[in-house]
Amino acid sequence: MGGLSWTGGPFFRRRGDPLAKQFLEAIQVRRWRERQCSVLLARPLITQHDYILFHILLALGTGHLRDSVARQVPVQQLDTLSTPIFARCPVAGTDACRVMLRTLAGMEDFARANGHYRRWGVHPTLRHSACERLCLHCVLNSPEHRLDSEWHAYMDCPLTEKARREFVLTTKLETFFQGTSSIESFALLIARIRDDTRLINAFARFSLQVQSIRKVWFRRLSSEAMKVELAERIAALDV
Ligand SMILES: [Zn+2]
Repeated sequence: MGGLSWTGGPFFRRRGDPLAKQFLEAIQVRRWRERQCSVLLARPLITQHDYILFHILLALGTGHLRDSVARQVPVQQLDTLSTPIFARCPVAGTDACRVMLRTLAGMEDFARANGHYRRWGVHPTLRHSACERLCLHCVLNSPEHRLDSEWHAYMDCPLTEKARREFVLTTKLETFFQGTSSIESFALLIARIRDDTRLINAFARFSLQVQSIRKVWFRRLSSEAMKVELAERIAALDV
């Protein structure tokens, strides 16, 4: 009999929660899903910020989502995550959380994405050299030359060995650190820690340590002796 009906409310409605709150949540989820679809469709290059996010979304996605990406067709919104990558708020300290999130967003100082632009002034020959995107610690200290990427810094660069050992000791996640690092193993590590507050906190602290170690190292690299050493190494590799 008669009665009032209305449409346009959030798709899943919860009793008790104000409608306005449910609307806001529904909008956030829709925007997050649109963002995922756009990243997955764009297939970011290794030199782009979203490259890590792309691989995390692949690692967390369904078989159907991965199949769509492989076939290079648009991903359906319903195949994407409705929850954030980190559903729980870490309590590791503001600095640590900021560095972790910036790292995963590809916004930290890694030559993979920025080609060491911060060091072009101090090391002018670095730009457009064979070392432009390489890990400079490994260029000077290791026979193996590696891309200066987040996964290399976190998972197998000798520069961060001590911090990595500490992280593995605390989390017992040593299986992720076996073999040569890759974006896939890095993304799987994030997929493993995302639901566990203790692991997220440990990873955030690890992120801050990696950033601090690298900052100290880059400061040392700007000493006169190190500048000469690096310039000689660049010249030798560019021959
Ligand atoms: Zn390295």
